Amino acid sequence: MTGCEGLWYRVGMKESLKASTIEPFLVMDILEAANAMDTPVIHLEVGEPDFDTPSCIQAAAIKAMQAGRTHYTHSLGIPELREAIARHYQTTYGVSVDPGQVLVTAGSSPALLIAFGVLLDAGSEIILTDPYYACYPNFAAFIDARPRFIPTRGDGFQLVPDTVKAAMTPRTRAVLVNSPANPTGVCLDAEHMRGLSELGLPIISDEIYHGLVYEGEQHTMLEFTDNAIVIGGFSKAYAMTGWRLGWAVFPKDLIRPAQKIQQNLIICAPAMAQWAGVAALDQAGEDVERMRLVFARRREVMLEELAASGLEVEVRPNGAFYVLVNMEAVTDDSYRLAFDILKHTGVGVTPGKDFGPATARSIRFSYANSETNIREGVRRVGEYIGNLRC
Ligand code: PMP
Repeated sequence: MTGCEGLWYRVGMKESLKASTIEPFLVMDILEAANAMDTPVIHLEVGEPDFDTPSCIQAAAIKAMQAGRTHYTHSLGIPELREAIARHYQTTYGVSVDPGQVLVTAGSSPALLIAFGVLLDAGSEIILTDPYYACYPNFAAFIDARPRFIPTRGDGFQLVPDTVKAAMTPRTRAVLVNSPANPTGVCLDAEHMRGLSELGLPIISDEIYHGLVYEGEQHTMLEFTDNAIVIGGFSKAYAMTGWRLGWAVFPKDLIRPAQKIQQNLIICAPAMAQWAGVAALDQAGEDVERMRLVFARRREVMLEELAASGLEVEVRPNGAFYVLVNMEAVTDDSYRLAFDILKHTGVGVTPGKDFGPATARSIRFSYANSETNIREGVRRVGEYIGNLRC
């Protein structure tokens, strides 16, 4: 062995500096602990619909597989799906989208990463709300960009345009909005959306929870500006989390850069899932509405039960399937509290710490579960917290 080979031999595997900047997704720790328990757990931590994917969507995937649609597709996505997505913007929001602006991805997560990759450079900044969806700062870290957080609790968890303006620096490249939001369930007002669009700053608009709005109107950022990358997907409203299918609408001059990243990182979204996506948009309207109405009812049940259990809701949610509950009277470490709740009550909840410092002393409840489980789960947590307070 030469000296050089000896050196190679000694270099073991070690986490890179970049990997060390990525935070774990804490809710996954809770979920894994819940699944390892001997007794049944009531899952109020989950961020996915408990419904099975509607049968017309499943049938389209089976048909696609049997027809041999099991190969790579065009990197931007099959034309049929890109056209269906463009039609969806026209019929739902009255907005005209060219199918040439649509990139179909393996879930909205890669769509977000690609959007970050297209707009941000190392050292540049993206404005995020605090609280935020846990993965956003990690996407920024992955490309050596920096998040700049705007606390929103004082503004009813709305992102106020003037505050964004004040936070902008010469390094700011984009602002991210998420409506309806995870973890608050809050929808951004049309007035705020217009104000943000007037700042002249590129906007990444995460609209993954569209279709799950229970009060007020739902607006896409594309109604207000073309200077936006709009992220959508099938995971939530269509109950298709496991299919890995989402999309992004890019301004015309950014679709080619986005395509290049997709070609290298992902190649294309799964072919059969894409055909299922066409059926979802063309045929599953009634199923989506049926599920939305069930979520609407569960939201009422959850809010009713939280109030009855003496648990303080931070803000009344009008979309998605989450409620944020303030726990500052009993903890300053929601991660530990979530584990204690799991251990003592058999109920899984998500630590607010996942979503940033603003919610470090809050817990997120998901109502993607049956009314019976919501009632029982919240009652047990309420009783446990009540005893901690004594
Ligand atoms: N954005 C938000 C706000 C989310 O909550 C999630 C999933 N929890 C995603 C994006 C990613 O969803 P998917 O990749 O399944 O489309």
